[in-house]
Amino acid sequence: MKYHLVTLGCAKNTVDSMRLEQALRAGRHLAAPAPDDAELLIVNTCGFIDAAKDESIEVIRELDAQRRDDQRLYVVGCLTEIAEEQVRSAVPNVDATFGAEQWDEVAADVGAASTSFDIPQPSLANIGAPSAYLKISDGCDRPCTFCIIPTIKGGMHSDPTDRLLAEAKFHAAAGARELVLVAQDSTAYGEDRGDRDGLAVLLEQLSEAVPDLPWMRLMYAYPGRVTRRLAETMARLPNVVPYLDMPLQHAAPSMLKRMKRPSVNKSRESIAHIREAMPNAVLRTTFIVGFPGETDAEFEELLDFVEEQRFEHLGAFTYSPQAGTPADLMADQVPEEVKVERYGQLMELAQSISHDANRSVIGQEFDVLVESAEPVESASGDLVVVGRTVRDAPEVDGLAFVKGEFAAGSMIRARIDGALPYDLLCSPVTG
Ligand code: SF4
Repeated sequence: MKYHLVTLGCAKNTVDSMRLEQALRAGRHLAAPAPDDAELLIVNTCGFIDAAKDESIEVIRELDAQRRDDQRLYVVGCLTEIAEEQVRSAVPNVDATFGAEQWDEVAADVGAASTSFDIPQPSLANIGAPSAYLKISDGCDRPCTFCIIPTIKGGMHSDPTDRLLAEAKFHAAAGARELVLVAQDSTAYGEDRGDRDGLAVLLEQLSEAVPDLPWMRLMYAYPGRVTRRLAETMARLPNVVPYLDMPLQHAAPSMLKRMKRPSVNKSRESIAHIREAMPNAVLRTTFIVGFPGETDAEFEELLDFVEEQRFEHLGAFTYSPQAGTPADLMADQVPEEVKVERYGQLMELAQSISHDANRSVIGQEFDVLVESAEPVESASGDLVVVGRTVRDAPEVDGLAFVKGEFAAGSMIRARIDGALPYDLLCSPVTG
């Protein structure tokens, strides 16, 4: 049988889809690039925010409207976990729904093997890609009042280390040059097994398992859980890049209390561990603006903190209420136009800091991982290929444009000639 799989949402969903595909292909089912060529259409949905829910429903509707009578339509993932009824009433003809991580059930339904492999199988989507995602755990035990993830995914559960090491080796053998570690809360890795320094130990084991894979990148750390030991381990391991993504969500103490997030001093402590252990480290964070009750003064506190810490990369969201979370029931919801205004102010500040950070590396040399071999013409008329330095994570940060023609997946030495607010302009270093 041929299946066509559409994946929506975050990087973690991409990894989930990979695991579903492993199971389907182990049952000798084949991926079909176009819906027309498939007998089974699967949508792996996202239900994190309302816009993602709407997009998921839209995609399901479209596939349903276009499909032939002999094509089955399955909906899986986060949205069916929290709002199966909504999916069924929006698209009543859906043939089956499965919740998040019910890959074994999907596989069993279409007559494929279980996903519980000892050794991961190749993922069609990921073969030969320069960067691969490694999902080290899922679920979350934190109490953040705006977040529906613990309800959707349940408590934090770490993936077995053996399986992660095998997945990493597979990606390295398939040509990946970068492994991006993702989770809802990567710093909680191993806590469900009683390990205190689970993530630091995992990094050591991964580094040893794939010594020739040059970049390992850590995403989604929790403030206060980035210990000195973790920072020092990252600094010591040659293939862990000096980069950390640590979503902080806010900085005003009163807001953090309402969000049930760690204190701003915990954030400062974790940032200090990283900057002390790796003076060249690049930090990425995200903030929510317009959380219920956020006053002008609290928003100013956030801006001051951003000025103080000067994050190289910063993303922001306007708060969007999630049914089933404590924040949805809080008084003092902030008007939409105030949220948008604050978002603009924060992003303007973040952009100028990011531009300064990019300017500060002009003249320095970096390895650039080429992501697309298709040359594009730059504003100055040069032909350039698109890649990234260690300073930028795939999909969320900036790019490096390198003059010349190079194969995708190659790593080339380049000098930074110019800085745009988010991107870098480079020339290859020869000789
Ligand atoms: S740590 Fe992240 S995933 Fe966990 S509850 Fe908080 S926001 Fe949600």
